[in-house]
Amino acid sequence: MKRISIKEYEFELLISEDKIRERVIELANQIDQDYANKRPILMLTLKGAIIFAADLMREITIPTQIETIIAKSYGYKMTTEGNVELIENPIDLEGKDIIIIEDIVDTGYTMSSLLNRLKEFKPSSIEICTLLFKPKNLVVPIKVKYVGFEIDPLFVVGYGLDYAELGRNYKDIYIRVDKN
Ligand code: 5GP
Repeated sequence: MKRISIKEYEFELLISEDKIRERVIELANQIDQDYANKRPILMLTLKGAIIFAADLMREITIPTQIETIIAKSYGYKMTTEGNVELIENPIDLEGKDIIIIEDIVDTGYTMSSLLNRLKEFKPSSIEICTLLFKPKNLVVPIKVKYVGFEIDPLFVVGYGLDYAELGRNYKDIYIRVDKN
């Protein structure tokens, strides 16, 4: 089993590069179909979604606009609605179809804050496309239309996801395990 260590923790392979690639292509095909006659805005949440989004957008064949937003939650497991900070670029979203591209939805607080903020700009539609989803941890009732993989409520890194800002560069996704 492939393993990596970052600082004090060990992680083992959860989802391989090949599996991710297959699923990314499926999601892109789905988006192509669903938005066939539209010109959606792919709203990337930084930094986590960088790698997923870069792969996904290159598999999408309809023309899309790419925008970014910084969604910072202060500390894993400490996320509450009050401490999600959004840093946005001023762009016109009125009447637009937005697809938020996210790395992981855990409690849902980050996405819920982002949805509430984006709704203020009166877009025509907003959907969420997340690579990973931890359904058992969801506390805010949000609808996630596109999900790459549902995973157990454990901590993962790689493919854009970090531990203390490290590990985003790995091609596979790894899950934290106890050292032994
Ligand atoms: P939520 O607001 O849904 O609880 O959390 C979303 C954010 O928490 C994600 O964008 C991500 O930054 C962080 N997060 C949640 N679970 C994990 C995880 O397993 N690994 C990493 N690296 N970040 C996570």
